[in-house]
Amino acid sequence: EVSIKRLSKQFDGIEVLRDVDLEVQRGEVVSILGSSGSGKSTLLRCINWLEQPDRGEIRIAGERIGFNGETGKPATQRELAKVRSQLGMVFQSFNLWPHLNVLHNVTEALVYVKGMKKAEAEVVADELLAKVGMAEKRLNYPYTLSGGQKQRVAIARALAMQPRVMLFDEPTSALDPELVGEVLAVIRDLSQEGYTMIIVTHEMEFARNVSDQVVFLEKGKIIEKSAPDEFFVSPSTQRVRQFLELEE
Ligand code: ATP
Ligand code: MG
Repeated sequence: EVSIKRLSKQFDGIEVLRDVDLEVQRGEVVSILGSSGSGKSTLLRCINWLEQPDRGEIRIAGERIGFNGETGKPATQRELAKVRSQLGMVFQSFNLWPHLNVLHNVTEALVYVKGMKKAEAEVVADELLAKVGMAEKRLNYPYTLSGGQKQRVAIARALAMQPRVMLFDEPTSALDPELVGEVLAVIRDLSQEGYTMIIVTHEMEFARNVSDQVVFLEKGKIIEKSAPDEFFVSPSTQRVRQFLELEE
């Protein structure tokens, strides 16, 4: 579903991603771990072309993002939007639209991007809000919600576009500890429903429980990529062993 080959990216002459290779199969959950500055967010941002890589290629369901499939020329805004629509992104900071209530945060893109009728969009939105446990707050404004509730609405909003792949960048790291669990539970449900997801996280137990693959980034390079049991029980590198000890 997602295929990343030899991806490299520099900022100001410093290599932030180096020859990253990653294959994510349909229905797979991949967790990305690594210390601060190792390139995790940059990797996610490259996947949806918020950053343009210097080298390498990224395919979403076979389609190369950032380039026209036939001519190989840089993609037009329209071509880019089309591939991007296959990706749902959830950030650390929830960035809901503050002037729209919960329901309208979810219906907005359905109406304006997908061209749905308002009533139809509200049916879809209500279903998704129920899925993330936010049905009762459908008419609330974001400022009246807790961080965990906002993040669950942000997830519903991303799901509304029916993305093939969900990308999460530390979805719980801005939350108070007691709110982390409710957001992780929603993401865990999605994994059980078969969503393909790439999740940057510092939640070790969660990564261990939901992932099919765990990837460790160190200075922009993948230095370990393995099944969770192997990753957490017998990592092959000294660096990962040290990281896991520090996180405990
Ligand atoms: P964290 O765990 O703190 O979120 P990260 O693994 O997500 O870290 P990135 O945000 O991908 O790390 O950053 C990797 C490196 O790239 C860092 O050294 C960062 O300073 C640098 N970097 C990221 N974005 C830019 C940018 N737009 N311009 C210049 N340097 C950048
Ligand atoms: Mg980051």
